[in-house]
Amino acid sequence: MSLHDITSRIAKAEADAGRTPGSVQLIAVSKVQPDTRVAAVLDEGHRYFGENRVQEAEGKWPAFQQQYDGVGLHLIGPLQSNKARSAMELFDVIHTLDRPKLAQTFARLAQELGRCPDMFVQVNTGEEAQKAGVLPADADAFIKECQSLDLPVRGLMCIPPVDEEAALHFALLAKIAARNGVGDLSMGMSSDFEKAIALGATHVRVGSAIFGERSAG
Ligand SMILES: *Cc1c(COP(=O)(O)O)cnc(C)c1O
Repeated sequence: MSLHDITSRIAKAEADAGRTPGSVQLIAVSKVQPDTRVAAVLDEGHRYFGENRVQEAEGKWPAFQQQYDGVGLHLIGPLQSNKARSAMELFDVIHTLDRPKLAQTFARLAQELGRCPDMFVQVNTGEEAQKAGVLPADADAFIKECQSLDLPVRGLMCIPPVDEEAALHFALLAKIAARNGVGDLSMGMSSDFEKAIALGATHVRVGSAIFGERSAG
């Protein structure tokens, strides 16, 4: 696969689902990938990237951002409160707002920094103990809490359980977003992004299908 193959498949999935062309943003997930592969995708003109660790992203993106204009960085991994400030300084969008303490920390830092990245609330649609995200039953109240803190909640994000039909989780996420009036849906990865687009994804997070398999780590 290559960037071009993935963007063609996204365009086809948009058309098949009757979605507006260009309504789905591809986030190229560059975690753990060697810099040469990331640079190749930047050279092809792609600008939206996802990382799951603040520290790793701090080590690699400032240099790329000097070299390439218009990079949009998305945090897609779980965030500890003590890294919230660094995350807000580096990332344009945070997909993993998942608990009241983090929401309160972001709200305080937004006042201090005078800016705030766009945010997605992560929902643990599979109710998995090891996975981050607010439970579906708590999602409505948590979204309202974030909004009352003036956080720019643009949408919802989920990572379906590996052993379950992803479409059920995508549909559940879309339903929670609709009843809360939040527009964007961050869902779908290498193995299931077309399904996610059919169910309304606005942001797909695709790593290995663009860059190749990640080595250990
Ligand atoms: C790694 C990762 C992805 C990309 O996974 P692929 O299967 O390589 O496409 C998407 N979302 C999250 C949250 C990830 O951590």
